[in-house]
Amino acid sequence: MSVNIILLGPPGAGKGTQAGLLTKSRGMVQLSTGDMLREAQASGSEMGKIVAEVMAKGQLVTDEIVIGLIREKLAQGGSGFIFDGFPRTLAQADALGALLAEMGQGLHAAIELQVNDEVLVDRIVGRAEEARAAGKPVRADDNAESLKTRLMAYYKQTSPLVGYYHAKGLLKGVDGLAPIDDVAAQIDALLG
Ligand code: ADP
Repeated sequence: MSVNIILLGPPGAGKGTQAGLLTKSRGMVQLSTGDMLREAQASGSEMGKIVAEVMAKGQLVTDEIVIGLIREKLAQGGSGFIFDGFPRTLAQADALGALLAEMGQGLHAAIELQVNDEVLVDRIVGRAEEARAAGKPVRADDNAESLKTRLMAYYKQTSPLVGYYHAKGLLKGVDGLAPIDDVAAQIDALLG
């Protein structure tokens, strides 16, 4: 049976890394709203222009925009989704539940990658430095100032989802400070 899961955690927790591994190991489909928004930005579309500034500052883009992006993807059908960086607000969580219900599907788990703030700063600064060294573009929001805003947005707007999914009996925690392969093994064990 194909399952749908959410990866929950602050910026730098390793959601994208683990989602990438799950697409390979289980053939799941990664839906990252951050990637979708960066694609929109790169394409130069009207929506891309609107979101670019908000993202660079580290703030959340509107629920309407990200729910619209996810709705479009889900309309293409399929299952076995990994929601990476979505939902980030309670309104987005409600919308996701409704969209999946319309498809006759549900959520199997919301997996929280548990980390601490110090490691996040190190990882994100490290990611920017690696990109620079490799001559790759550095994300406009991978700097100390935006990171502060992104962390605040996480604690204020997204962390209530931990309680939300706990109440639904869907919350599972994994130790996000463990090495990448260990985190992957923990997630694998949860998915059975
Ligand atoms: P990270 O998890 O490392 O912060 P993402 O790539 O998931 O990176 O997101 C980058 C930025 O894209 C966020 O800071 C925010 O501006 C925007 N964004 C991504 N997903 C959402 C969402 N679900 N709701 C609102 N804004 C979002």
